[in-house]
Amino acid sequence: MKQPKAGALSRRSMLKGSLAALAAGMGGRAAAQQKIDRKLVQYQDTPKNGQKCSDCLQFVAPDGCKVVEGKISPNAWCAVFVAKPKT
Ligand code: SF4
Repeated sequence: MKQPKAGALSRRSMLKGSLAALAAGMGGRAAAQQKIDRKLVQYQDTPKNGQKCSDCLQFVAPDGCKVVEGKISPNAWCAVFVAKPKT
């Protein structure tokens, strides 16, 4: 069996290492962009016990959320509600 040259082997190793690092970086970015499914956080279109999305730290006006996927109503609620600090 023919042995690879030392230079070729190191180039191949470097390429594999670079691809692995690139994949790891992409995986981290994809994970950071992933949001929680509404069903998992008991999302509902109405407030609960006086709590609503527009008063939540995670709410992104006009209709988004940093952690829950999809269009979010300012008057909705979910189980991971975090009250905005009072000013
Ligand atoms: S209550 Fe839930 S869905 Fe609404 S903004 Fe907060 S985290 Fe997002």
